[in-house]
Amino acid sequence: GFPTCECNACYAGPDCADLIPDCAADADSGDPLFLEPYWRRHAAGSTIVVSGWHRMSYRTTNGYISVELERHIRALHRAVGNAVEEDKFIVFGSGSTQLINALVYALSPDNATSPASVVATAPYYALYKSQTNLFDGREYEWKGITSEWINSSSVSTTNLIEFVTSPNNPDGLLHKSVLGGQSVIYDHAYYWPHFSAIPAPADEDVMLFSGSKTSGHASSRFGWALIKDQKVYEKVVQYMQVNTMGVSRDTQLRVLQLIKVILAEMEGKGDIFEFGYKTLKDRWRKLNEVVSSSNRFSLQQISPQYCTYFQKMRDPSPAYAWVKCEFEEDEDCAEVLKEAGIISRSGTIFEASSGYTRLSLIKTQDDFDLLLQKMVALVSKGGVSS
Ligand code: PMP
Repeated sequence: GFPTCECNACYAGPDCADLIPDCAADADSGDPLFLEPYWRRHAAGSTIVVSGWHRMSYRTTNGYISVELERHIRALHRAVGNAVEEDKFIVFGSGSTQLINALVYALSPDNATSPASVVATAPYYALYKSQTNLFDGREYEWKGITSEWINSSSVSTTNLIEFVTSPNNPDGLLHKSVLGGQSVIYDHAYYWPHFSAIPAPADEDVMLFSGSKTSGHASSRFGWALIKDQKVYEKVVQYMQVNTMGVSRDTQLRVLQLIKVILAEMEGKGDIFEFGYKTLKDRWRKLNEVVSSSNRFSLQQISPQYCTYFQKMRDPSPAYAWVKCEFEEDEDCAEVLKEAGIISRSGTIFEASSGYTRLSLIKTQDDFDLLLQKMVALVSKGGVSS
């Protein structure tokens, strides 16, 4: 059979208790395994069983979308208060990743003489650029970072698609559109109480959410978009039909079960958001303590903020630490960390300076503990200020 659990890459032995010497702490990817202990505690209720003869059709009773799942996603937004869903259409994607290009396509003009310009503000999530460049349609093209676009006269001012990630990946800050144009894609993958205060429900025309960061099931490849305008919605639906004929019906079944558990346990002892918030708040506090003991590194500043979900002021609990190397000679911050046995994601990947690098705080507890241990060792080498 399949093994029931795997050791972290830095541990071996029957109980995964033997630390492999000189193993690097991998804080690169945004794999949301910090929620695994939550689902271990809710193992029975979250299980689904699908017989071989079940759900074999291309279609559900209502085309490609499970009506029950749509109903539960809407109920989840209302219960959390993080998005206004009442006046929006909903589309599912294979991860929010699939919807990124679907939305760019849908927001691009049909018959314009020049393609739409797609922009984002640095530091930004690299996939917007790589996906837009990969598909490189006649209707749209990647035009780089927003501030450069504002200062450039060579780009058409009419067809503009702006990505706004809020909270932002990598720095966890809440952002608004810089250009204030009509076609803004708000990526709210991290707008959940695990990662951020929820000051008010988001109510933009195009909003993107990710199952990976909501329940932690990145493997299921599930995301959704809330869309106000019917024409945009219809173009996204058309894209999905031509591309994959919708999202795996198995995945929809699993996500439905997970959201049922989340809703049933909310605001009680088994609240997933309380669990996620406490876990990440604790990690952020510990990392801050270590980093602030030296002047060689600094982290992004996030202030405590009132959260309508918890109905109180809450401490920061970002998904990532956006590390700045303060010394001039530490030009390549990711390299500095790498020499200390820490794998991070360089600022250059986010179109920021190499003086920054990103550490993921949402992996397993073992991953985090190892990261912290290596940071303590690195920082204790001293702040040889220059
Ligand atoms: N948007 C942002 C800002 C992300 O950080 C991620 C995943 N790291 C995604 C979208 C894509 O997530 P998924 O495809 O797993 O839903």
